[in-house]
Amino acid sequence: MSGGLRNRFATIVGAGVAGLTAALALAGKGARVTVLERAPAIRELGAGLQLSPNAMRVIDALGLGEGLRRISLRNEAVRLHDDQGRGVAKLDLRGHRPDADFRLIHRASLIEYLADAARRAGVSIELGQEVKHPPEGDLIIGADGLHSNIRAFLNGREVPFFTHQTAWRAIIRQPETALAEAQVYMGAHRHLVSYPLPGGLRNIVAVQERYDWQEEGWSHQDDPDHLRAAFADFAAPVRDWLAAVERTHIWGLFRHEVAHVWQDGRLVLIGDAAHPTLPFIAQGAAMAIEDAWLLAACLDADPDQAAALAGFEQLRRPRVTRIVRASNQNARNYHLTGVKRFAAHLALRAADRLTPGLMLSRFDWLYDFDPTGVLLSR
Ligand SMILES: Cc1cc2nc3c(=O)[nH]c(=O)nc-3n(C[C@H](O)[C@H](O)[C@H](O)COP(=O)(O)OP(=O)(O)OC[C@H]3O[C@@H](n4cnc5c(N)ncnc54)[C@H](O)[C@@H]3O)c2cc1C
Repeated sequence: MSGGLRNRFATIVGAGVAGLTAALALAGKGARVTVLERAPAIRELGAGLQLSPNAMRVIDALGLGEGLRRISLRNEAVRLHDDQGRGVAKLDLRGHRPDADFRLIHRASLIEYLADAARRAGVSIELGQEVKHPPEGDLIIGADGLHSNIRAFLNGREVPFFTHQTAWRAIIRQPETALAEAQVYMGAHRHLVSYPLPGGLRNIVAVQERYDWQEEGWSHQDDPDHLRAAFADFAAPVRDWLAAVERTHIWGLFRHEVAHVWQDGRLVLIGDAAHPTLPFIAQGAAMAIEDAWLLAACLDADPDQAAALAGFEQLRRPRVTRIVRASNQNARNYHLTGVKRFAAHLALRAADRLTPGLMLSRFDWLYDFDPTGVLLSR
């Protein structure tokens, strides 16, 4: 059965990836949606995003695939190197699943694109609306990110755990001819991920283990020389990329629990508000997009809202918990030192030669998932 969302009112807190995708999914099923966003304008940070096929299937089902492909690049491969630039392994994304689409996009382009589509679908986006307490209404969706007030209302304030990792992000200009591939450089206690973006840009995220504490948040600027110094012993092209950095931001990486309480029959959490994750398998936005689709599908399939929200939580919790764990694990793999590192790189090089595709097939559970094909029963 479906149609449970027709003419229902929904308020979404937060116009990030989760909130805007949910607005589109709900409006697509006939709901009347208002999004409350605290920022005075739809503006995003200068940073890139990788969107994997599990998220792209939702984007396609929302009718947004063609437009999104015009403003993103197709990611052909992920290449792993050691800190001296020697190849360790190549994950051939196109070769492994020719029809699975991995995209590289600027966050600002994605948010703008989703917000325009939402407005065209009749969603009302109210800016400059900071929500401190859950608003009135029958259905309130907390998509208010990492420091979610709706999560705190349902769960109390939690104290996250500092991972002793600090990350920088930066965007540089580069020739448009760069290969559309993600490059990962792994050194002792550090790694750096970089990929091109449309418009002659290159995204850089660099992570270093550090014991001094950094704040959690995306808007702290740092001196680019600190970033260059931290990776000074990495070979080209890392050094060349970092030489071109004019502005960088720094933040501490904290590990959060998946929320214990996701919903109470009226309020429900999605995206980072429900399950903040470390960025090491690039799935935070992808999970937010999966959540958005499946929340709308659950609500549409079952007019009993309390049952629909409980069903949504039950459906999502195991998958997002597995993804968050996989991301925690990847951080350790990237930063190995000494003998362990030597052995791991040797094994990866051998696996790459003897069984190409095997490394990527370990992630089939992640990328082959199709949220739009999930059958919901009442
Ligand atoms: C370095 C880095 C790289 C990443 N790379 C990737 C990647 O490649 N692929 C990927 O899938 N994910 C990636 N992620 C994760 C991804 O960015 C997040 O998981 C995703 O943006 C979460 O979306 P969200 O909508 O839940 O939260 P957010 O994007 O944080 O949006 C929350 C929104 O709510 C608003 N808000 C907050 N509080 C209030 C309030 N009280 N009232 C009203 N509005 C409020 C905020 O202003 C914001 O607009 C990365 C993360 C990091 C840190």
